[in-house]
Amino acid sequence: MSVIEKTASQKAIDLENKYGAHNYHPLPVVLNRGEGVYVWDVDGKKYYDFLSAYSAVNQGHCHPRIVNAMNEQAQTLTLTSRAFYNDMLGKFEKYATDYFNFDKLLPMNTGAEAVETALKICRRWAYEKKGIEENEAEIIVCENNFHGRTTTIISFSNDPVARKHFGPYTKGFIKIEYDNLQALEKALQSSKNIAGFLVEPIQGEAGVYVPSEGYLAKAKALCEKHNVLFIADEVQTGIARTGRLLATCGDCNCEQKDCSQTPNVKPDVLILGKALSGGAYPVSAVLANDDIMSVITPGSHGSTFGGNPVAAAVAMAALDVVKEEQLADNAERLGNIFRSEINEYIKTTDTVTLVRGRGLLNAIVINDTEDSDTAWNICLRLRDNGLLAKPTHGNIIRFAPPLVMTEPQLRECIDIIINTLKEFEA
Ligand SMILES: *Cc1c(COP(=O)(O)O)cnc(C)c1O
Repeated sequence: MSVIEKTASQKAIDLENKYGAHNYHPLPVVLNRGEGVYVWDVDGKKYYDFLSAYSAVNQGHCHPRIVNAMNEQAQTLTLTSRAFYNDMLGKFEKYATDYFNFDKLLPMNTGAEAVETALKICRRWAYEKKGIEENEAEIIVCENNFHGRTTTIISFSNDPVARKHFGPYTKGFIKIEYDNLQALEKALQSSKNIAGFLVEPIQGEAGVYVPSEGYLAKAKALCEKHNVLFIADEVQTGIARTGRLLATCGDCNCEQKDCSQTPNVKPDVLILGKALSGGAYPVSAVLANDDIMSVITPGSHGSTFGGNPVAAAVAMAALDVVKEEQLADNAERLGNIFRSEINEYIKTTDTVTLVRGRGLLNAIVINDTEDSDTAWNICLRLRDNGLLAKPTHGNIIRFAPPLVMTEPQLRECIDIIINTLKEFEA
């Protein structure tokens, strides 16, 4: 044994390094407990979680209602596969289709699987409903997209790290600039074989890029004009994160007053994941109306775990919590406070260039070169000061706390963030 005992954290990190594939580069902090907006490390130090597992934990860590629903169902029936019916899936499908106002839902487990499902539905629709010739369908996607990690999805990514040496790549995708309606129109006109347009309402992984006002509504109108499916990937932006139930906020049943002020953008195909379970369990889903979902027939698609009774129970509880605790309203209100306070600070400093976002999905851009490690170093210092966040793409730091945060908690966090940034002032 060495003279200096290894800390519990170092032991856990060493285990992952030795026995785990190195497919992530985590911030060095080892967590073993979570509750609401807080997580604790193995030494008992408490942190504000400002990542929320990439917006999966919108309802807060270990929400008692969600955990109870999971425990109860886990003691009753966990998995039947879809070879048989179970008494929970239909309840969840009814609940969620009422909630988001679609005819039908197709359950999956992870976000990437739900995106794959949406792409398959779109291609089938193209051949069977739109009349595109077999194998000719094309789907428009955006530059700097993030839709997951499967072979097909990374085929249309333009992140070299995600793509390198994973080819050959899946064909049938056209990439255009995000937030560029002219590029979309040109692509739509370029071919008779366009089946769909897959888009993130806000590009989260790319660095929380918020498109121009009206972009989504106009993109939807263009898609309608060309008989092309508008497919919204709301895996990260959905379920109250951006201050509304959905960032596309179609004519869903969220009963929010301010919906009338923004143009209704109802996707033809809606992709959900992450917070659909409040982070308790992998649950994802694709929603669409009958004219589209009817292309899916027995045997044409499936998943052993997709639609299992635990997932159904957890997702219903997770969606209940979002409405009951009015998390969309809370995200909207706290997000406005966050951006206005950070903007006040930005006026006084050269360290941060800007803050952007909607609701509680926000990011700051650090005033340094893209390949500098300033953002990483700031995140290390934030950790020391009791707040966990992670850089995305170089010099951008995303801030996305659980939506159950209170205003005093948020103000404490803003103080931590600003005081930490001040340590980096020249
Ligand atoms: C996280 C994410 C995905 C992938 O979800 P996984 O559960 O990690 O497969 C897809 N789309 C968006 C927009 C995401 O943020």
